[in-house]
Amino acid sequence: MTDMLATTRPGKLIINGEAVDAATGRTFRTMNPATEEAICEVAEAGPEDVDRAVKAARAAFDGGPWARMRPAERQRILFRLGDLILEHADELGRLETLDNGKPIFESRQIDAPMAANCFHYFAGWATKLAGETLPVQPAFFTYTLREPLGVVGAIIPWNFPMIMVGWKCAPALAAGNCVVLKPAELTPLTAIRIGELALEAGLPPGVLNVLPGKGSVAGEAMVRHPGVDKITFTGSTEVGKHIMKTGADTVKKVTLELGGKSPNIVFADADLEAAVRGATTGIFYGKGEVCAAGSRLLVESSVHDEFVAKLAERAKRLVPADPLDPKTRLGALVSAAQMEKVLGYVDTGVSEGAKLVAGGKRQPVGGKGYFVQATVLDQVDNRMRVAQEEIFGPVLAVIRFEDVEDAVRKGNDSPYGLAAGVWTRDVNKAHAVARRLQAGTVWVNAYNFYDAGMPFGGYKASGFGRDLGPESLREYTQVKSVWISIE
Ligand code: NAP
Ligand code: MG
Repeated sequence: MTDMLATTRPGKLIINGEAVDAATGRTFRTMNPATEEAICEVAEAGPEDVDRAVKAARAAFDGGPWARMRPAERQRILFRLGDLILEHADELGRLETLDNGKPIFESRQIDAPMAANCFHYFAGWATKLAGETLPVQPAFFTYTLREPLGVVGAIIPWNFPMIMVGWKCAPALAAGNCVVLKPAELTPLTAIRIGELALEAGLPPGVLNVLPGKGSVAGEAMVRHPGVDKITFTGSTEVGKHIMKTGADTVKKVTLELGGKSPNIVFADADLEAAVRGATTGIFYGKGEVCAAGSRLLVESSVHDEFVAKLAERAKRLVPADPLDPKTRLGALVSAAQMEKVLGYVDTGVSEGAKLVAGGKRQPVGGKGYFVQATVLDQVDNRMRVAQEEIFGPVLAVIRFEDVEDAVRKGNDSPYGLAAGVWTRDVNKAHAVARRLQAGTVWVNAYNFYDAGMPFGGYKASGFGRDLGPESLREYTQVKSVWISIE
């Protein structure tokens, strides 16, 4: 506990390049879900702070150094921020684990480098965004300019706090926008720290403002603020719909990355050992609090029993443990409420007729914490609630299928379409099934791979717009057509 406090201090808002208290003076407490103890107090942004931050961002965009800076200079600053994130990966990893409950192995070895990777990758784009010359009529010289939108409001969830900062802020800033960022109330610490590092990297005041606080207050005020040009949101489908409706009043552009119930499909001809590992990490990585989690495991009938036996055995060996221990692979769920929701779904599944073959219970570590066992529900029917609703926890629903047609039908029988996995040694089948799945990402003989350069986002109720890759730059730019009469 003392060691823990040494790395944390009260969190402030970052507005116009300064760490400040909320206008109201209000604070909230952020908790460590593994110990159920408070980590520190954090300033709680309200509408007045949102207004100040938006005005600072607006001023920085309209007349400030960010707008006037050469793209090469923007590139240098954003690349430097990527370097600083890597240099502070131990600290950031630790903060993330304390705040979120995820294993330090994930936050230090995967999340911090991924956040850095986003700034490194998008830094390069700052110098490569271009319009086109389009010779449409002889009497005119006609070309397009690709321009930033202005002030981008980024609202992010608690499951990958620092990665989400990278996914949203890096492309928005590379394109020349200014950003007001609202991290999730449950996990504000790494976003605040990255906001400080951004100033150290040389980002001018007002270009990146960080407003920890409540979604229903600070988030809502951002979505309603006429000075915000665009909202980029990752979170639940329910809040996403609300943002889209509310944002309509000020004609906000929106990108929504929402929930998922992704099918991970194992054909009988797959390398079954690899598929068992992929099925396990597909759902239990990040405690299953992963939008793209392979939460529906579709297994071909002929190998079903053998596969589920191996899977259950592997799940039982994945025991919740202290997230700060580098050997731990299953951490604490983010909050008591999330744990209750997840355990409630286990009960729902069993009462719907599913068979519990691994886990299913809370398992405190050292008598504390919101830890839930790696849970496998077998004999799930795709129409059950545990197959249709996003659980967002370490609970896998196993569903049988008979052939390719059945696999594709069940795979697509979901309101969501975020991701999918396919396990097979048959290359034709792999490509054919990948095309037929309604999902924004399909992994073949792999699961949960991401890269700053590869677009990510949803089909169907999983949202629209794309994070990452060249595609994401469209989300943060607009095109101007210029006609020059030459006659
Ligand atoms: P959430 O409740 O929708 O919250 C997401 C963010 O929205 C938080 O910062 C939240 O603030 C804020 N918010 C809440 N109400 C708001 C409002 N009225 N106006 C503006 N902002 C508001 O989602 P969550 O529970 O944090 O995250 C889990 C969900 O995110 C899951 O459904 C998951 O699938 C999805 N997700 C999707 C992706 C993807 O790329 N598609 C990635 C990660 C997660 P508070 O923290 O104060 O509630
Ligand atoms: Mg916390």
